[in-house]
Amino acid sequence: MWHDTHHTFTVTSPLSGQPLARVASATGEHVDLAIHAAVAAQPKWAACAASERAAVLSQWAEILTEHHEQLARLIHQECGKVLTEAASEVMHGVSLLQWYAQRLVQEETDASVGMSESGCQLATISQPIGVVGCITPWNFPLASVLVKVGGALATGCACVLKPSEYTPLIALRVAELASVAQLPSGLLNVLPTADPAAVGAVLCQHPDVRMLSFTGSTAVGRALFAAAGQTVKRLALELGGNAPFIVFDDADIALAVDCAINARFYNSGQICVGANRFLVHDAVYERFAEALTERVKQLTSGPQADIGPLIHQAAVGRIEALIADALAQGAALRCGGATVDLGLSYFAPTVLDGMTHAMRAASEEIFGPIVCLYRFTSDEEAFQLANNTEAGLAAYVFTQNAERLNHAANVLQAGAIGLNTSELFHLNLPFGGIKQSGIGKEQGLHCLDEFRVIKSIVKKEMS
Ligand code: NAD
Repeated sequence: MWHDTHHTFTVTSPLSGQPLARVASATGEHVDLAIHAAVAAQPKWAACAASERAAVLSQWAEILTEHHEQLARLIHQECGKVLTEAASEVMHGVSLLQWYAQRLVQEETDASVGMSESGCQLATISQPIGVVGCITPWNFPLASVLVKVGGALATGCACVLKPSEYTPLIALRVAELASVAQLPSGLLNVLPTADPAAVGAVLCQHPDVRMLSFTGSTAVGRALFAAAGQTVKRLALELGGNAPFIVFDDADIALAVDCAINARFYNSGQICVGANRFLVHDAVYERFAEALTERVKQLTSGPQADIGPLIHQAAVGRIEALIADALAQGAALRCGGATVDLGLSYFAPTVLDGMTHAMRAASEEIFGPIVCLYRFTSDEEAFQLANNTEAGLAAYVFTQNAERLNHAANVLQAGAIGLNTSELFHLNLPFGGIKQSGIGKEQGLHCLDEFRVIKSIVKKEMS
């Protein structure tokens, strides 16, 4: 069901700077309506057999696959992500839904746990938590929606989704295709809005929203954490990162350079697990820096090239300020450092040399196509520097020493660690940050439990 409103806002394409659409802007009143619809629809959905819910998710995945080109183009238009990456995001989203459907059929939801010493039967029952508020970012506008909504719907929950104000169109289209897949009305409610704080406040305060699942910046995550405390909601927070990328003196430099390109330049550097700080051993620093700079210089910018535009002008300004701060404190440019002559928000792939840890880029999430190179001289120093951040989302390590790899896996304070690889995402592996990068896990074998409550039952047999 669609609701009209007089309040609208414009969605602009970073590819052209032109308006793509005007979209209805939800207010607090709409949030109440959406929560009401979700509360009404959820019990019947929860009572369906797991196989029925799985069938709807599978059907939705099939319909998304049929529309994959259109969806990829919409991501490309709306957030500027290059088309090949947008296409792989769509297929990742589809595989999430398929995976949830399979998982649902495989797992057992009720488990008997035996008898007490006094002869009582002990059991646990796990049930859907209820209505889940979902708030998603623009940098994975489809996958971040499906990972939350797919998991919540799989377990029998209902969702109220607030997508990013920069990318509401893809969320609306995906929801429209869910209704084509016969998802019952009221289970997936989408609230685009130009006023995220107002909609977020109602989601945090409403007692019928039992869980808030948020992906976005650490600053907004902290505010939601405080606000949701009033109604003691379960929180899942996927927040910002400051990933170290450590290159030891025995690393395979060619492999490290390949992985550095992927870990830094995917989505023009606008990715939470992006390598924010390249920590390179003094003995291989020059070799790595030179080889990486050569590769970076070959990256092309443009709508159909390696590097797309940043999401908006404010993102360009933020990056310019980080670079200016680094240069003022003694860093040097190996390449890039300014916008590309394509107009709009294209920023040249950049390598900054001679960084120090007092510079702003060492503690702030860069979120752009910028490599920052730092030197270290001992293992102890490398791990200490790597952990010297409030973030704990991802880390990358390159060495051919097996003992060092084991040690790195143990001591690095990050939720996802790549050892001689930059590929961190696998459906069977839980993903989520530690420290101030978040709470909870998405994906992984136990991820459906994130959307469930467990009740303990003690039953005394009556004679
Ligand atoms: P953001 O925090 O600005 O916005 C995220 C979402 O929160 C959007 O929907 C936005 O409208 C909403 N929002 C903003 N202010 C709000 C408020 N006061 N109340 C309620 N909602 C509010 O982040 P962004 O710029 O969209 O995304 C980039 C950030 O997201 C980066 O920090 C990145 O690291 C992080 N991110 C993390 C992961 C992860 O898995 N950990 C994945 C993707 C992005």
